[in-house]
Amino acid sequence: MDKSGLLHGVWVFGDYRNYFQNRVTLQLIAKGRELAETLRTRVTVLLLGEAVHQYAMEYIAHGADIVMVAEHPDLRCYQVESYTNVVARWAEAFKPDILLGGATSFGREFFPRLAKRLKTGLSADCVRLEVDPDTGLLLQTTPAFGGNLLAEVVSSHRRPQMATIHPYVFKELPHKASAVGRVVYPEIEVKANTQVRVLRSRRQQARGGNLEDAQIVIVGGRGLGSREQFKLLFELAELLAGEVGATRPVVRAGWADEERLLGQTGKTVKPKLLISIGTSGALQYTTGINGAETIIAVNRDAHAPIFKMADLGLVGESSAVLPLLLETLRKRI
Ligand SMILES: Cc1cc2nc3c(=O)[nH]c(=O)nc-3n(C[C@H](O)[C@H](O)[C@H](O)COP(=O)(O)OP(=O)(O)OC[C@H]3O[C@@H](n4cnc5c(N)ncnc54)[C@H](O)[C@@H]3O)c2cc1C
Repeated sequence: MDKSGLLHGVWVFGDYRNYFQNRVTLQLIAKGRELAETLRTRVTVLLLGEAVHQYAMEYIAHGADIVMVAEHPDLRCYQVESYTNVVARWAEAFKPDILLGGATSFGREFFPRLAKRLKTGLSADCVRLEVDPDTGLLLQTTPAFGGNLLAEVVSSHRRPQMATIHPYVFKELPHKASAVGRVVYPEIEVKANTQVRVLRSRRQQARGGNLEDAQIVIVGGRGLGSREQFKLLFELAELLAGEVGATRPVVRAGWADEERLLGQTGKTVKPKLLISIGTSGALQYTTGINGAETIIAVNRDAHAPIFKMADLGLVGESSAVLPLLLETLRKRI
């Protein structure tokens, strides 16, 4: 179908839902461009839905060379089965080298199914992507063995080389209205899904604030000891005009919503200042905060791993440090 051979290169799955907040596709286009330039190929974004043309223009303005569109009323809602059918057929026909998607809840469900259909591998939740200069293969760095190690995964035989990546690991390119690209509408065959029917969809109110864009983030860990202590973080965040994040045990204990979870299975933040209180510094957590410019850690254990990455460490009981910090800030602000 692709007589021009233009559609081989790097593919990015376009997730345009909640466009102004969900920037992962734009971030992946930027990384895709870099990979495509090294491989001397092109970046193609896949766009599925109904009346989605305006997003095609947006993706081109943010660096895509080509946008491949499938428009159909049955593609209006994101559904794993129908989306897998369309993308798998395109991949079989055009044979992309690389296929990237966001590690969003949809991406985490959709990409494994797609990889299985295409009989290829998938590196989930990658934190780095590079092209090996000797082999031209995609080096996919992802947490492995429960997140205790960072593994470099290579798919040497199967194609496409597939990876999902956390939002905010890469930086989007600025919008360039004069950018030129192609929009193509390859053939699609959409079968109505007889097993799942979406009756209506409603957007869930975001409860994690704007964590990913926040300039100041205060994170609480299990060491805080109680929901009451964790609540003090909201007061601190208000005084500093920041947002509150949490580690997995805190979410599990119900002191914070899942939307506040940072790390391998949560969000990635890049604030100017991050204050981490009562967190040990497990790799699965620090994966989500590596991009912070300055990290201040508070922990009662002087040997806690979090101090290895902190710019400033404070050894002490959180129940003593937090009230002191709040009192000082209240006087100053
Ligand atoms: C596959 C997998 C994925 C995971 N994904 C994530 C993820 O996305 N995000 C995440 O956060 N975790 C994740 N985890 C869990 C992760 O391994 C850690 O268990 C978790 O990050 C630890 O959270 P914590 O630092 O709050 O708790 P702990 O490890 O229990 O650390 C608490 C710290 O608080 C200190 N402390 C205790 N009392 C006080 C006090 N009174 N004052 C000051 N300090 C005190 C202690 O010294 C300790 O260092 C994942 C695990 C697995 C296996």
